[in-house]
Parts: sequence; C-alpha cells; structure tokens
Amino acid sequence: MVEVKLAAPLQGWAMPLATVPDPVFAGGMMGDGMAIDPVGDTLYAPCDARVVSIHAAGHAVTLDAGEGLRLLVHVGIDTVTLAGVPFSACVAAGETVRAGDPLLRFDLDAVVQGATAAATPILVVEPEGATISARADEGPIAVGDPLYYVTMGEAGAKATAQTGETLRHAMTVGLPHGLHARPAARIVAAARETGAAVTLVSGDRQGAATSPVSLLSLGLAHGDAVTIEARGARAAAAIAAIVPLLTAEVDITPIARPHSAKPVPATVDPDAAVGVAAAPGLAIGTACWLRPVVPDIPATCDDPAAEQARLTGAIGAVGAALDAGGHGAQLASVMAAHRAIIDDPDLIAAARRAIDAGASAAAAILAAAAAQGARLRASGNARVAERADDIHDVALRVVHALLGTTEAAPVLPDRAILVAHDLLPSQLAALDARRLAGVALAGGGPTSHVAILAAGLGVPMVVALGAAIDGAADGATVILDGDAGTLVVAPTTDRLAAATTTIAERAAAEAAARAAGDRPARTRDGTAVSVFANLGSVEDARAAAAAGAEGCGLLRTEFLFLDRETPPTLDEQSADYAGVVAALAGKPVVIRLLDVGGDKPAPYLDLPAEENPALGVRGIRVGLAQPAVLETQLRAILAVPDRAACRIMVPMVASGDEMAQVRAMLDRLHDEIGGAPVQLGAMVETPAAAVTADLIAAHADFLSIGSNDLTQYVLAMDRGNAALAGGIDGLHPAVLRLIGQTCARAATTATPVSVCGGLAADPLAAPILVGLGVRTLSVPPARVPAIKALIARLDLGAAEAHARTALDTPSASAARALARAFAEEMR
Ligand code: PEP
Ligand code: MG
Repeated sequence: MVEVKLAAPLQGWAMPLATVPDPVFAGGMMGDGMAIDPVGDTLYAPCDARVVSIHAAGHAVTLDAGEGLRLLVHVGIDTVTLAGVPFSACVAAGETVRAGDPLLRFDLDAVVQGATAAATPILVVEPEGATISARADEGPIAVGDPLYYVTMGEAGAKATAQTGETLRHAMTVGLPHGLHARPAARIVAAARETGAAVTLVSGDRQGAATSPVSLLSLGLAHGDAVTIEARGARAAAAIAAIVPLLTAEVDITPIARPHSAKPVPATVDPDAAVGVAAAPGLAIGTACWLRPVVPDIPATCDDPAAEQARLTGAIGAVGAALDAGGHGAQLASVMAAHRAIIDDPDLIAAARRAIDAGASAAAAILAAAAAQGARLRASGNARVAERADDIHDVALRVVHALLGTTEAAPVLPDRAILVAHDLLPSQLAALDARRLAGVALAGGGPTSHVAILAAGLGVPMVVALGAAIDGAADGATVILDGDAGTLVVAPTTDRLAAATTTIAERAAAEAAARAAGDRPARTRDGTAVSVFANLGSVEDARAAAAAGAEGCGLLRTEFLFLDRETPPTLDEQSADYAGVVAALAGKPVVIRLLDVGGDKPAPYLDLPAEENPALGVRGIRVGLAQPAVLETQLRAILAVPDRAACRIMVPMVASGDEMAQVRAMLDRLHDEIGGAPVQLGAMVETPAAAVTADLIAAHADFLSIGSNDLTQYVLAMDRGNAALAGGIDGLHPAVLRLIGQTCARAATTATPVSVCGGLAADPLAAPILVGLGVRTLSVPPARVPAIKALIARLDLGAAEAHARTALDTPSASAARALARAFAEEMR
C-alpha cells in the first residue's frame, strides 16, 4: 500500500469535484480528485513528479508521480479553446519537478473572461484502483496546503509491479490514416498479452496502452514521430509486437472507403448548399428530418452495486448482439469496430466510477462516452474525431439495453432524403432502406462508418452541409447530389426536370446492364470491353456475380494472410480461392499473389520496420525474399479444383527479372504437379513497369494497371496522406501518358491490358482508358452495372480522340473538365 500526499498547486478556493461546472469533470469521468478556483497566476507541482506532457494548448499538465500514480491538472474549463494564449509553461515534458516548483503561469483575467470557468480540477487519472482520502475542506486554500491523499490499491500495485528497465523504441507512424481505432485496439491487446506496461509518447503527449481511447487521443497522424516505452519482463516482446501495428494497416477486408471527398464544384451554384460528397449517386426526394430523441433516463441510482450488475448485463447483451454481426460486409465491419469499443476498459471503468459516485448506469455510460468522444474530437485528427459518433452509438445501445427499449426508427415517406444534424450507424441500419433515397447531414465526415454504410446500401450521401440543412423543412422537395456534394432545396421546375432526366437515364442504363447479365460489355460500335470485379472475399464474389461481372480482375489475397498469428496453410488458401472461383461459376478469376509489406504487414513474415514502407519490401519483393511463402501460394492456386478459371497476377513488379523468377517457380511446380497451365500476369504499378511494359510483357500473359499505386508513384504523393487527397488524381496527364505508353508497348507483343485500380470505376476516366487501349476494366462489384452501361454508350473512335486530347491537358483538373464535357456529349 503506497500513500502520496498532494499539496494544493494553486492559491484559491478548494472545491469538491462535483461542483465544477462541467459534467465530465464533475462526474469523475476523467478521474477522481478535487478542484481549486484560482486567485493566483501560477500553477505549482502538487508533489515530486516527472512532467509527462503539457498540452499543446498549454492549459493542462500530466504528471507521473511514480508508483503508477499519474495526475492531470487542467487549468480552467474549456480552456483548450483559448489556444494557449493565456498560458506559458515553466517546465517541459520529461523534466523532473519537486513539490512546489512552478509548472505554468497564466493570465487569470484572460482565463476568467475567455473560458467557461477558471475552476481547476486536480485529478488522479491512474492507477485505476487508487483511492482518495483526507480531502481538504471546501474553502480558501494556499499553495502547499494539503489537498488530498492518494492510496494505491490493487491496480496501483499491478502497475508498480512492472519495474525494471524501460525499453524505448522511436519510430514514425506509418499507418496511412494515422493511429485509428483498430490498430489502437490491437496495440492494447498486444500490450496486454505481453503483460508489459506500455506507453506511446509523442512529443509532450502520451497514452497508456491500457485503453484504445487513450492512444487515439494522441491524435497520431501518418509520419508523426512516436516512442514506444515498455516496462516489464516481456518489454522487448511488446515493442516487437507493436512496431508493425504502428507501421502499417493490418486490417484485411478494408472497410471500403466510401468515396473520396470531392472538391467544391468549380462553378458556384447559387441555389445549392455545398457539403462534402460521402456516398455517390443523384436523388430527388422528400426531406424527412431525424431529430435525436434522448431517452428518458434516471440521473442517479440508490444501489450502486445493483446498478453495476445491470451495467454488466447490458454490456453483455449489446456485446452479444454486436457479435452476431450484420448483413453485408460493411455492416459487419462496423459491428466489429463497435465490439472493440464496448470492450474498451477505459470506457467501462469511467462508467463504473460514475455509478460508484451515485450515477445511474445509463447516465454513467452516456457521460463516459461523451468524455471519450470529447477527447477524440480534441485530437485534431478528423478520422479519429469521426469515431466519437461510434462511441456514442455504442453507449446508446447500452442505454436501450438497460431500459429495455429500442429506438423507434422514423417512418420514412417514399423516396425519403433523410436530413439530420448527425446520424449514427445503428440509426441508419434501422431505417427502411427501400424508402431511403439519400442522406443529407449537417455534420459528419466522408470516412465515417455511417458514410461507409450508406455507400454499401447504394444510398447517396452528402455530409458537412452545416446550417444549410435547416432550410430543408420536413416534406420539402430536395435534390441530393452525392457526387458533387450538394443539396438543392425546393428546386426550380427546370432543375427538377433535368435531374429527373439524368436519374432516369442512369437507371435505364444500369437496368439494361443488369438485364444483360454477364454478357460482355460492348461499345456502340461493337468493341468488347470486359467489366470484371475486384474482390476480397467469397461474399464479394457473390455480389459481383449478381451484378453481372464477367470475371474477377483482382482477388486481393491479403485478406487471408493478415490479422493472424501464423501463415495460412496451403489447404486453407486453396479452399478460399476455390470458394471465390465457385461463386463466379467458371468465369476467370485473377488471383493476385500476396501483396503485403509497405502498408500491409503480416507479423509472422518477419518484415522489418521501414523508413519508407511504400518504397520498401512489399508486393512480390516479399515473395522473392521468402520463396517458401510464394511457393505455398502458387501450390495452393494450382490445387484449386477449377484451375482452368484461375489466373495468377504478380503485384508491385519493377522489372522483367522478377517476373522471370516467378515464372521459373511456377513452371517448376507445374512440371511437378501437372494439369492445365495457368496464365501469369504482371501488375503495372510502378513507373518502371509502365515504361518497360514490353520487357515485362515478354514474361507475362497479361498486364493489369494498378492505377492506385501507379498514381502515387508517378506523382510522388502518398496515397494515404489526407493532405494530398485533393491532388492525387489518376487523370493527371503524367499518369494517363504512362497508361497510354503501357498499352502501346504491350500491343507490340499483343499482350492484353486491363486496369484494376480505382480509375477503372471512375466514370470520367473509363472512356479515356478505353480510348488508350485498355480492354478490361475491373471495378468494385457495386460499380459493375454502371460501368457496363457507360461502355454501351461509348463510341470507340470518339473515345480514342478524347483520350488523345486528355494526354495533352495541362493538369488533372483540366482533364476532368474535358472528361465532363465528353460525358455530356455522350448522353
Ligand atoms: C492498385 O494499386 O491500383 C491496386 C489495384 O492495388 P491495391 O489498391 O490493392 O494496392
Ligand atoms: Mg497496388
């Protein structure tokens, strides 16, 4: 048992935490402690400690007092909004201070005028089992007077048990989207598994790997420097497990990014409210508001022990419901993400503390979620902030489980455009999708789970419309454009007629494409342009078959290799490939060899952490460096019963040599096993492969352009860097010229060329690709009918002339403008 005395760090008025004018602090969500309403201008150290961090806004200090005791002193309420102006730090992160040393000086007048309150909580944030005693009475207090005593219980003892040397590993965050929910959850799991006390330190911030939220609130972005600190017998193992998790994504069935945010249209439309495109499509419908109904919940409870048990029951029920998953890959992914939230020990511990302090279970979980959400929103990382909605959603599920209620979904009129300030994934999932024509939100983000779900349902969605949505009254007619990111309320008759025509044309074309089933798409003049699908699972393959895909142009086999401790066996692989082949009933299936490394690690492959993963050991470089892995995969493909349908594709090829090595191994295995030969193709994803396409084609039966990677390497723009998202456009003339050159060089050996990157599914790009000589487009299953319909409207001669002009445009935006004009002419 260890007891630490905390001295008052400020002169002022001591007050119980519950009287702080902020429910998060008052409810003990951030930890227990006391507050002081200051009259001085200096914050002093309440005990001997190490300064862990000083918030970027200068208003909050985290201290490590040893023995696992961590303190947070937060000067004023809402002072983060003052952006550091009134504060100046007297110490820096990492410095050791003695009780009474000055930590911060501040302009008290500025705090009082600019913030909600100057009341300063002094909190114990770790360890969990700490108890506080001998609190100072409410009233005047001087710097150095006893404020309270902290006694470390079991949890503290556990923390202090992790003695020994602290190992540190400095690195940069390689995750394309920074540290977000899933890698954070995995880091916590890795730390737990090794029993090490792990902390991530980034500048003056740090997060304990006991809670995903604590890590998320670091707001770590791609490229940020971070140090992993680990203590305990297996500290080295913890670091080894965590490095890859911070290096690259390990999620395999990537939650499809719904739709990248499109820039605001170049021509200002005075009648349209402009937001951010989140799910594609055009819809006319009737505005139908979804207004949040806050369930009527008791604020307090009489019997905390019974309330704790009720919370346990409700969490169990919600967990079981989430485990049951949902229909469709997107909903299942969201459910899995929500499952990780409900397992978050910090969320639950905060709720339990509030119950112990007298809150009802429902009030406690909502307040705990609100506190976590606030931390995520303050992270400064849009993608992390969007996860706050998910936490609120999970908390609401728990509240409904506690109350035995369900949230009544609104009854939608036909062709409803749902209008709301915000929308939770569970709220969207509960709506009658047959009546839902679109979603318009004041808030939200294009990478939120709700946007992913909308895209999966084929429902256009525009987010971030702001106050403009208030103009869309219930019952108003609106036009929602999920491609342009706009909302038009009460459109003119002409505008309505034009939108009606566009929708009808698109619907007719898609219906015709569906009716044509899997018959090959042909241009108006009869040139065959095949439309294949990109797949990651058997479920995708079924969707693709139903959409009329003529085959699979890219089976991303990573899904089988990632997210596991050991490599999949030959039999496992073979069974998986066979499932996809069977779902496509004999149509060709291009199986891409393992494309890991770079942004997709597989821990058991022992890939080193790299400074520049995109330029490192990835794609076929992994297979050639670890031939056993490559050989097992080739054998697995050769063992697929319907082998005649299979084709093999090699990722990240940079030279013909690499193809020759794979070809040699395939030939050897084929000689050994016998049976029908299997075609071998190369992906053109590097500029090197594009400019030597003829040399590569000498070893390949087909070429497939991976426009996603090709664009990033040609433009030297990281495809995962949000700051470059507006500029990384495959319609850039440099990318188009390389695609054109690839087709021309491949034509010298009559090697067919397809495109399987995102450009193939872009309706503005597809005519140019066909004009450049591409004869197979491989697109997400949901885009198959639309792209087939587009091909049917295309004239090859016109497409070729259009492509020639596009090659000479000065920029991607100029090429897009040209492509829009061409699309208009095609109508
Ligand atoms: C590409 O790079 O375009 C591609 C299809 O591969 P991936 O997106 O899986 O890297
Ligand atoms: Mg690629």
